[in-house]
Amino acid sequence: MATAFGTVFMPEMAITWFDGKNWSPVEMVPSDRLTLHPGAHVLHYSSTCFEGLKAFRHADGSVNIFRMDKNLERMAQSSRLLTLPELDLKIAADMIKQTAARFADEVPAPPGSLYIRPTHIGTEAAVGKAAAPSETSCFYVLVSPVGDYFAGGDQALRLLLEENGMRCAPHMGMIKSGGNYASALQPIMKAKQEVQADQVLFCPNGDVQETGAANFLLIDGNEIITKALDESFLHGVTRDTILTLAKDLGMQVSERQLTVTELLERAAKPGCEAALSGTAAVLTPVGTLIHNGKEYPVGNGGIGQTVVKLRQTLNAIQWGEAEDKHGWLERVN
Ligand SMILES: *Cc1c(COP(=O)(O)O)cnc(C)c1O
Repeated sequence: MATAFGTVFMPEMAITWFDGKNWSPVEMVPSDRLTLHPGAHVLHYSSTCFEGLKAFRHADGSVNIFRMDKNLERMAQSSRLLTLPELDLKIAADMIKQTAARFADEVPAPPGSLYIRPTHIGTEAAVGKAAAPSETSCFYVLVSPVGDYFAGGDQALRLLLEENGMRCAPHMGMIKSGGNYASALQPIMKAKQEVQADQVLFCPNGDVQETGAANFLLIDGNEIITKALDESFLHGVTRDTILTLAKDLGMQVSERQLTVTELLERAAKPGCEAALSGTAAVLTPVGTLIHNGKEYPVGNGGIGQTVVKLRQTLNAIQWGEAEDKHGWLERVN
């Protein structure tokens, strides 16, 4: 697909409004507009959270959503931590399935998929509520057919290790919320310009955390190392999926603190690999770490075989080519 990821939308979306007491009946409406009061809470105080998940077309024509429950659980948590109205997860799940089913015919075959973007925003027109929650909100489900993220060639990424700045405020880390991405933009743009980095790996006080929109995994032989869950970073569904698959493959999974010093030491070893995990990019190899003006290749600096194997293992399940042992897929059509 020649267009940039996430820029083509299906013409309708499912939507519901919370009036302070009830959710309105779900409607399918045109997806190219949304009427909000300019004083809406979200536009001033960033009461917003979203999710990103995918539906896949299988050879039998079925369309299947991957790990929707896990994404919805996270969205409920994001809403709660932002003091947005409580989501009705049954309604939200129905809206996601309904929207994916509606556009089932337009879900691209693998390696393409339908990217699903549920969004929850505070709508109360109340600019005086800088320190109070929005009583009302809107939840909608946008969908976008996407192609192969790797169509441009699978290149190992360059990451700048950032020990001084942070991606977002530490208590906001596990919330998939708009403000966090705005907060990370300046350091990312600077890293792109100054050292031609693809992404910034945030390592506050030397603790290896994550990048602007993906989790970080280090693979050293049979061991896969990644930061243990805490509230400072986003608990990726792909991270959880890859760790589960790694265990299935007999790998040792270490969820623990990883310091920049240990990372640089281990990365230098031949055969070491690193990757970023996320719904959009699945598992993307990392080839180079940049730290204090020096460049450190990870292993041989190219694409590691374990990263490729784990990505293929995950894709095979998503694409219906391997058994879905963990019950991660849900058919919608
Ligand atoms: C969405 C996101 C991830 C990846 O989460 P997945 O559930 O795997 O898509 C990681 N970090 C951040 C900051 C994110 O926004």
